[in-house]
Amino acid sequence: MWRYFREKKDEIYRKVFRPIPEDFFSFETGEPFNQCIECKSDLNESESDYIIEKSYQDGEVIYEYALCDSCCKDLRGEMSKESMKHLKKALKRPVLKTTIDGCRCCGIPRSELPGFTIVGACVGNHMIFWDAPVLICDPCLETISEGLSKQTRDLLDDFEVRNFPGPPEMEIDLPKTRRKVVVI
Ligand SMILES: [Zn+2]
Ligand SMILES: [Zn+2]
Repeated sequence: MWRYFREKKDEIYRKVFRPIPEDFFSFETGEPFNQCIECKSDLNESESDYIIEKSYQDGEVIYEYALCDSCCKDLRGEMSKESMKHLKKALKRPVLKTTIDGCRCCGIPRSELPGFTIVGACVGNHMIFWDAPVLICDPCLETISEGLSKQTRDLLDDFEVRNFPGPPEMEIDLPKTRRKVVVI
């Protein structure tokens, strides 16, 4: 009896914790992310989880980062209650689940999308296949962003400016409404 449960547990464990797919490797280094973008903590040494977010435009990675659990919580803690509620509601009934083959919200396949963001949750060198990984297309992300409070939008703008300053000429190329939502 106990053996059965143990085997079942191992089976679930193997299903949920899988090696990080190359899609979630850093485009810059070609290797898994090893540092939190905010606090620079080592993600492989710590036992807590972290998220990876990568945004694509016409096949190119336009930004990418990993954020540790503690920084993620800090950011989430500063988001307004209405925004958290809005995010939860917006992501509640997914069309596609636990895949980056298409948009979670509208179901359009990845191959037909010019711009999208992928998000995954990891711990050490494993990805947690639970509610994530997910892909969200630009139009859906924009719709979600529109429902965020001004306070939350400012907060995310700050996060963006702090971590992705970029040369001014680069900013011109990016669509104005581009927002790097941390989808949690
Ligand atoms: Zn951090
Ligand atoms: Zn979509």
